[in-house]
Amino acid sequence: MLSIDSYAAITGNDVIEKLRQIAKPLQGMKVVHVNSTRIGGGVAEILHKMVPLMNDLGLDTHWEVLQGNAEFYQCTKGFHNAIQGNPVHLPESLLKAYEQTNAENAEMLRPALEDADIVIIHDPQPAPLLKHFPDRKGKWIWRCHIDASRPYRPVWKYLRSFLTDYDASIWSLSDFAQPLPHPQYLIPPSIDPLSDKNVDLEMKEIRETRERFELDPERPLITQISRFDRFKDPVGVVQAYRLAKRFTHGLQLVLAGGGATDDPEGDAVLNEVYEAAASDPDVHILLLPADAHRTINALQRMSDIVLQKSTKEGFGLTVTEALWKGRPVIGGNTGGIRLQVINHHTGFLVSTPEGAALRTRYLLNHRDLMEDMGSKARQYVRDNFLLTRHIAEYFNLMVLLSDGHADRVEL
Ligand code: UDP
Repeated sequence: MLSIDSYAAITGNDVIEKLRQIAKPLQGMKVVHVNSTRIGGGVAEILHKMVPLMNDLGLDTHWEVLQGNAEFYQCTKGFHNAIQGNPVHLPESLLKAYEQTNAENAEMLRPALEDADIVIIHDPQPAPLLKHFPDRKGKWIWRCHIDASRPYRPVWKYLRSFLTDYDASIWSLSDFAQPLPHPQYLIPPSIDPLSDKNVDLEMKEIRETRERFELDPERPLITQISRFDRFKDPVGVVQAYRLAKRFTHGLQLVLAGGGATDDPEGDAVLNEVYEAAASDPDVHILLLPADAHRTINALQRMSDIVLQKSTKEGFGLTVTEALWKGRPVIGGNTGGIRLQVINHHTGFLVSTPEGAALRTRYLLNHRDLMEDMGSKARQYVRDNFLLTRHIAEYFNLMVLLSDGHADRVEL
């Protein structure tokens, strides 16, 4: 069983001690997380580890997943795109499917949610559940993982009507917070340093992974790991690689991704990527199964530079994962990437394929700088973006909410 004590080797004992202290007033409390997929994407990645660790810390923590059909996911992907700024028109029939799916799920989840002390609803997919629980016992929190800095207003207005009755909302950074009639909290996500995705690997495993994908250890390698989603700009990554390759002989690119079960657009974007790559033998497009955590870990470790050229990004766990492995990241100058890529220190922020190409070439020609950035990157993640900090901030918020309007909170 996963134990919080195992983390002391990385964070130090005092962090674990503090966490146990904050957990004391929450012992036995029933907490339920709800999202819309158990596989793929950052939310599932976090919950897989956060839920057992909260249990280990003495809370009674559960994770429920919404069941939906194709229309539901088409609608919620539309919300995702609209919150990130695209002018999406969603027909009445899709909105109906969205509300109907939530009504049906509310009945299935009633036993789990009705008596919970804290319910954390992740992202827009399950947001309307709340209105089916007028007699709810606990506090309900809406947790937004999406880059909501400039949402498309008509869609936001519709979604907002499901959010106003929540007791609180959580956002990854202040740029995303929206006017809502409840307290809003800023809690950035995190990675688990002990997961298969992030643990240290033996050289042998890295070498075997490299051989499996026929990557040449003698030539430079840049990598982007992402769902095939337009906001992740995989086509822009191929363009950046092309430009950089003119000056960096033998450059190789890995674009690795898989689908999330709640993302119906992946195939179309993947086809655009194949077309952009035009059968270049040095562009490796890898379709990985959902449990390929160690493979991704190895790919990040064998890369000279990791790219995350998103044009919108809620947070970007892939950035955190790469920084943790001491890799400088060239990231899109947007959303949560700005929180992690400290320009010229942990990597470079860019806005165009040309910018990404220029920085790639620069770093590959300055290996000492790359090393220096890499060690700053790891330290930066250790200080700010590990799961232990994330859980502590959730606990603080739970104590605050369950103490009602107390003007003092005893921890
Ligand atoms: N991921 C994965 N397999 C893939 C693509 C991504 O396991 O094929 C993981 C990735 O390592 C990261 C998460 O999925 O942990 C993606 O989270 P992120 O915040 O970067 O983006 P999101 O998909 O949530 O927009």
